[in-house]
Amino acid sequence: MTIHSFETPPVETPKTRRFSASEKRLINCETVDVNQLMPIKYHWAWEYYLTGCANHWMPSEVSMAKDIELWKSNDLSPDERHMILRNLGFFSTAESLVANNITLAIFRHVTNAECRQYLLRQAFEEAIHTHAFHYIVESLGLDEQEVFNMYREIPVIWAKDAFEMELTGAMLDPSFRTDTPAGAQKFLENLIGYYVIMEGIFFYSGFAMILSLHRQNRMTGIGEQFQYILRDETVHLNFGVDLINGIKAENPEIWTPGFQERIIKLVHYAVELEATYAEEVLPSGLMGLTAPMFREYAQYIADRRLERIGLPAQYGSANPFPWMTETIDLAKEKNFFESRVTEYRSGATLVWDD
Ligand code: MN
Ligand code: FE
Repeated sequence: MTIHSFETPPVETPKTRRFSASEKRLINCETVDVNQLMPIKYHWAWEYYLTGCANHWMPSEVSMAKDIELWKSNDLSPDERHMILRNLGFFSTAESLVANNITLAIFRHVTNAECRQYLLRQAFEEAIHTHAFHYIVESLGLDEQEVFNMYREIPVIWAKDAFEMELTGAMLDPSFRTDTPAGAQKFLENLIGYYVIMEGIFFYSGFAMILSLHRQNRMTGIGEQFQYILRDETVHLNFGVDLINGIKAENPEIWTPGFQERIIKLVHYAVELEATYAEEVLPSGLMGLTAPMFREYAQYIADRRLERIGLPAQYGSANPFPWMTETIDLAKEKNFFESRVTEYRSGATLVWDD
């Protein structure tokens, strides 16, 4: 329908039929209305959306007082400061890369309303994560130019981000489509590059490094924010895995042996990028953590991620940080965040200024 005149409202009834949930598809489903959430087909996507909302948090709820005191004291070694700064540098822009990829690359090609509902929630969570890094930088009085420019200036950070930005770039061509096998594979490569590699592998060294400090009761404000972020990222990763496996199941012809080989190669490359990152961030080891342990950790994590998308484990490495599993499980528990200070407003308590 075209609106010819704004003076005469159209009176015709749209003659389209109602659709059933079974007609919905994750990609390439232009025939079903993407504006209509109900009827739901992919209940997992809706559940992730509800979980994301239940996990809501804001950076400013976390007190940075003890961190400020410690940062200004002489009780942090130069190596510890370097490790903290590098991780702030990496995450402060990595979160924006993820948000931009969701809104500019993924959203357009996912033709399902309940997945889009989750993607909108996830995009907001990425904005909160970027906000968290701004809040930390501001609280500690760090040089924001230095921290937010690290992704262009520090080669081990740039290498990871350049790898990701290339995956986003490939989707930005207006003529890009997912309705050819090559196009659908390119899109799946983007999803794996972000959900499995960026959020599932690249984020985990930083989580382990910062949470090691937190385990020693140091920089606990940053540590608490990392726990919130880790909790969110666990949901992002789970959604991503379900989306990837769902697209594979609906489009089995794209999951060719050659494509599987390509994904395994990308993961090997990502593990090398992560190991190189750890060498620069921990040149002489810290708190019993050494760069070789992070290579092992990246390998261990990569094996777990590969298995979840139906690909064979590559390394067989042991987990050098078994306590991280416990930390992730704890983060999923409801009462873990006892220091929450804000109750979110419910409808009954809203007051309107008029
Ligand atoms: Mn994030
Ligand atoms: Fe995320």
